[in-house]
Amino acid sequence: MTLDELYKTLRVALSESDALYVLRKRADADYGDLIADPGRIVDEMRAMEDLERHRRGEPLSRIYGEREFWGLRFALSPETLDPRADTETLVEAALAAFPGEPPRKILDLGTGSGCILIALLSEWPDSVGVGVDLSPGALDTARRNAAGNSVAGRAHFVCGAWGAALAESFDLVISNPPYISNHVIPTLDEEVRFYDPILALDGGEDGLQAYRDIFSGLSGLINQGGKALFEIGFDQEKSAVRLAEESGFLVKHVHRDLAGQPRALEISSGDK
Ligand code: GLN
Repeated sequence: MTLDELYKTLRVALSESDALYVLRKRADADYGDLIADPGRIVDEMRAMEDLERHRRGEPLSRIYGEREFWGLRFALSPETLDPRADTETLVEAALAAFPGEPPRKILDLGTGSGCILIALLSEWPDSVGVGVDLSPGALDTARRNAAGNSVAGRAHFVCGAWGAALAESFDLVISNPPYISNHVIPTLDEEVRFYDPILALDGGEDGLQAYRDIFSGLSGLINQGGKALFEIGFDQEKSAVRLAEESGFLVKHVHRDLAGQPRALEISSGDK
């Protein structure tokens, strides 16, 4: 098959950027090659296999085991959530929350692929951070990602239930916890239900259980004057704010994502 034929075949089922992504992975060709040398003969077999898997519902990020987040490349594994573009709102909110001196120590609860912590460490070269996760498989992936993005010397990964295994405190605590009600999980798209780990999604009966668990131990994890940022679901602004306030924290701001939905809850250490 020629490069151009392969591209056109992929385009029947894929967006332009996804079709180009498959060409890059399987035909060693980019957009420039497609324009300059469309008649080049390529072996289409692996690209066609990927297309078939994708047609049966598997996301390309899972087929290739990688995802771009904050302009960095992250390996995925079955134990990690596929990082979402919405979560970049959390990274932006963290940068905005520390306009002067960056936080020296960062804690990422439920680090998964490590994407949030690693993105922040790449922005703040003098900071160090800890990523916690319950899943040892996710932690292996996060460690690989820290190395792949040249922050391994400043990122430590710890297995545990939220902050329970830690005896230190931080200037910034950040988390994208599981926040989907377990009643809603069966209705999610197959791309999520079949490929994202349930541990990364399940927020209990009302979707808020992880926030309750985290808030109950949070004051011991934040330094005086420190901040915490949590991703929330589009419909959780009121309930998450209420929960944070009931737990004794001061809610500073609710940051919105590109679609204008509430996405990141910013908390300061408050009186507690
Ligand atoms: N921190 C990771 C992410 O944002 C994992 C989050 C999760 O598994 N809920 O992608």
